[in-house]
This record gives sequence, structure tokens and C-alpha cells, in this order.
Amino acid sequence: MCGIVGYVGKKVAQDVLVGGLRRLEYRGYDSAGIATLDDNNDAHLARAVGKISSLSAVLEKEPQTGHLGIGHTRWATHGGVTETNAHPHHVGNVYLVHNGIIENYKELKAELQKTYTFASDTDTEVLAALIDSNYTKDSSLKDAVAKALKRVRGTYGIAVFSPKEPGTIVVARLGSPLIIGLGKDETLIASDASALLGYTREAIYLNDGELAVCTKDGAEVYSLELKHLNSKKETIEGDLAQIQKGGYDHFLLKEIMEQATTLHNTLYGRIDPKAGKMHLGGPNLTEKEMRDIHHVVIVGCGTAYYAGLLASYYMEQLVPDLTTEVVIASEYRYRSFHLPKDSVALIVSQSGETADTLACLREIKKRGVKTLGIVNVVGSTIAREVDGGTYVHAGPEISVASTKAFTAQVVAMLLFAGMLAEYHGGDPKLVAEFTRELAILPEEIEKTLNANRETMEKLAKKYAEYDHALYLGRDTAFPIALEGALKLKEISYIHSEGYASGELKHGPIALIDNRFFEVFTILDNWLFDKACGGLHEVRARGGKTIVLTNSKADIEADDIVRIESKIELLAPILLNTLQQLFAYYVAVDRGNDVDQPRNLAKSVTVE
Ligand code: GLU
Repeated sequence: MCGIVGYVGKKVAQDVLVGGLRRLEYRGYDSAGIATLDDNNDAHLARAVGKISSLSAVLEKEPQTGHLGIGHTRWATHGGVTETNAHPHHVGNVYLVHNGIIENYKELKAELQKTYTFASDTDTEVLAALIDSNYTKDSSLKDAVAKALKRVRGTYGIAVFSPKEPGTIVVARLGSPLIIGLGKDETLIASDASALLGYTREAIYLNDGELAVCTKDGAEVYSLELKHLNSKKETIEGDLAQIQKGGYDHFLLKEIMEQATTLHNTLYGRIDPKAGKMHLGGPNLTEKEMRDIHHVVIVGCGTAYYAGLLASYYMEQLVPDLTTEVVIASEYRYRSFHLPKDSVALIVSQSGETADTLACLREIKKRGVKTLGIVNVVGSTIAREVDGGTYVHAGPEISVASTKAFTAQVVAMLLFAGMLAEYHGGDPKLVAEFTRELAILPEEIEKTLNANRETMEKLAKKYAEYDHALYLGRDTAFPIALEGALKLKEISYIHSEGYASGELKHGPIALIDNRFFEVFTILDNWLFDKACGGLHEVRARGGKTIVLTNSKADIEADDIVRIESKIELLAPILLNTLQQLFAYYVAVDRGNDVDQPRNLAKSVTVE
């Protein structure tokens, strides 16, 4: 989950490394550090607890002048958040940054303790010692890294250098992303392509089980058996403006407000409102393959899981003979699951690196089932390993709490469902209606956000001091309730739970007291009266209620936010954008770090 950067070239490495770390800070931010090698081949190490600004303060006092270095922003897995546990780790002749977990670090440590004294509690320092112990007189750093990694169980993205081999950084990956940017007389390393923007567009995306030797002239890629491999050069997409705040106070607000634009990109070339049809090119399935699908399993974690849940409701509406199941990746990967042969799996991940989701993808492939990625980050591991799929084109999502990616994921899966419907005798009128709504969804989102921004801000002020919240919804508003509760807890730290309204009486209604408020998302559809039932029950027990709705009907609640819209089927997506604003403003009111909430990190690359 951490960020890794590396640089070898003519520039002062410190500047490139710190700049890169700032861009990657959202991936982990409890501590950070860099190590560089100066022109006399002396190494310099600086580490600090806290954000990159703390590291910058250290570096300001003692700037590093070298032209080669590695940097890291940490999301601790082993050992507390201390300067000693921060990366880079230095053991003997080795400087190392690491993303991931060395699962067998205890047994390796017991063995290495005969020769080494360990300063930190991390698994990473053990790996540094293991590399150093293999770094003998006759071996190169590349040999030592390869030998050490063969003994490791777990996941890693690493960058290593040694004063014994100036001008060289060795990198390797297994389960954690690593990208090598190829510039003119300089080579950059990053765990996320955004750190490379502005330096180069040409990159090598390292695959699992590969190692590379990087110098200012480029990179040579090897297997762990040190067989030379032909590497493929790819183009990095995106531009710098996408990873800047663009006048907003926080990335989160920017990402909420830009959803109309990003959704245009998701939909571009994929709907034909006149013909009432949807089309996705990415799945790469023949007509027969499309017809043969009778079961869809959707895999995700967190927000991606909720996006899948909402999409599954739509899929069932659109495709008459389809069964669906939506699973949480961290559970599914270890279950003895079976899938019918006529299944297809949708693998949903914003980053395309989510460790549990990736593990499911591999498990599902082993069972011979076709996998399709619903992924945002171009070139990410999941995108590369699936049989087909689609990029959701939401652009870089920097804020840890996911907003625009959720919307884009739901829509991408809906497009797949609309296409599937055609081959499965789905009602063409319904497909056309969904298509019509999709075509106007971007403008409707824009309108909804602009019309209600101030209202949500005021509402947030009113409820910011509560301790608990319940989010409730029925039918397609149920996944939205789950997502609303997740958003609020992630960034405001208010304890919040999402429930199906019908479940109220089965437990959660017992909780209602004056420290709670309840958010009901109520849709103007055939279940309206039933959805209001839960609301009455809560009000009868003195609960404080907020209603988000697209209905014009009379509703009694403490606060009601009504949206006016030409959209019905997709109203949950619109109403969810209100929840996003609400969570944002509550978090701001509580003085929280909105973009980098405590204990969390973007792109969960560890289990
Ligand atoms: N397991 C390592 C640690 O705790 C790396 C964590 C990370 O990926 O940031 O230091």
C-alpha cells in the first residue's frame, strides 16, 4: 500500500524522490524516508514519522546531493510507526525500500540474527539483511537480490541500491506494483505511474516474479533465475492536471464535483441513445460466449463491492435468465467456491492492485472461468491479468475515500449488463430506458451536486457532532445505504452502519437513541410505501432522520433533501452523490484530514 520511488540520472535525486513521494502520499502516509548515494559513493539516509512535509523538514537541514536514490512512504504492517521502522532500511551494504509483507520473516530473522543485529521490528529489515547476506565478494547486487527473493514467502515491490555498485538500482516485484520510467539519461522507479508524469511517458511495467537492473541508460529485466527477458515498453496515460487539486480545498471535493466529466469518459462511445443500445468493446466475447453466460460473480472490496452489489440489482432487472452473486474478495479467495462453467467473473478494483481481489482473480482463473476487469488504473496488475474487461476511465482518484470510481464502476457494469441483455432476450424497452438515463446521467449529476452542495454543507454542520449513524435503503437504495455509511465512517470517524431497511426490526432498531441519526435513501418507485415504513418506525422511537429522495410525495423527517431529476432507474447513483458531499462536509467540520484519513491508505496491496 506504500509508495515507492527511485531515481538514477543527472538530476538531484532528493528533489525527484520527494516530489514523487508527495504524489504517492495517498498510498500510505504514516512515515517516509529517502536514501541517496552521492558522487563520492557515500550513502545518506533520512527518515521521519508523519507526512512527507516532516521528511522535507529533515532534508532542509541536511540536503542530499546525490544523483541516485530510493524513497518510500509507509503504511505500517509490521512494527509501529517510528523513525526506526520507516524505510529505507540499511543493512551492511544494502539500502532497501519495500512494499508488501514478508510472511516468513520470523524464521528468516531467527537465522539471520546469528550474524545481524536488527534495529527495527519490520519484516523489511529482515529482507535487507537477507539480501546483504547473499551479497558476497563474487556476486552482484542483482545476484544477491535474486537469491534472497527465492527464499521469501509473501509479497513485495522493492528497490535496492548499494554503495558497492554506484549507478545501479535493482527492483523486483511479486504482488506489489512496480513501474520503471525510461527518460533521457535518467530512469525512474515508482509503484504508481502518477509519480512518473511530467518526467516520461515510456515505461516498463514489471510483472510478478521479475527483477530489473536500472541504470540511467534504462533497465534490463530478468527472471529470478536470472534469465534475461524481453521487456515491453508501454505508454503512461494521464496528465499532471489530473493529479492536482484544481482550485478545490481537497482532492475529495474535486473528485466528487468532477463526476459529470469523468462519467462522460466512462460512457464515451459506449451508448447509442437513439438506438437504445449499449456497447462495451473490452470484454472481447463472441456472440456465442455472450449467450452462454448464465451466471455472473462480481468480486470486490469496500466501495468496489458495493458498486458490484448495485450493479447486480440492475443486471437481474435487465437479463432475465441470469443469476448473480456479489462476493467480498478477502472471504472468497479462501472459500472452497464452485462456479458453474457458464459463469463470468467481474473483477472490480479502482487501483487494479487490490491484493485480495487479485488473489480471487487468480483463483477464479484456476477454475477455468472467464474473468473481466472493471478497473480504473490503466496498466495495473488486474487489468493485465484478466481475460478481458473495461477501464472505467474515471481518471486518477487521489483521495483515499472512493467517489467517482464508485459511480464509474456501477456504470461500467451496467453497460455490460445492457449488452448481455441483448443476447438473453432482455426487454429492449428497458435497455433503451437505461440507455436514455445513462446518456443524461452526467448532466443530472452535475445539476444535483450544484443544486445541493450548500444544503449538504449545512446539513453536515447540524449532524457533525453525533456519535453514530445508520444508513438505510431498500432495493437499489440498499447498496447505496452501505456505501453511504462506509463513506461517512472512513473520513468522519463517526460510527456508521448501512442496513437494508427491512432489517431494522431484526436488530438495529434497538440502537436508536439521541446519539444516533438515521439516513434513509427513499426511491420514488413501487417500493416507496415500504421504504417509508422503516422511516415511520424510527421516528416513532424518537430517531433523528434525514431523508434523501427523488420523490415529490409527502414524507415526514427531520431533514429532507429532494432531488429533481429526469432519472428514475439510476436515481440511487444521483442520491449517492449527496451522501458523498455529506460525508465530505462532516469530515471537514470535524477538522479531519479528509484526503488521508487515519489508518487508511489508497490501493490496498497487502492482505
Ligand atoms: N511490511 C513493511 C513494513 O511494515 C512494508 C509496509 C508498506 O508496504 O508500507 O514496514
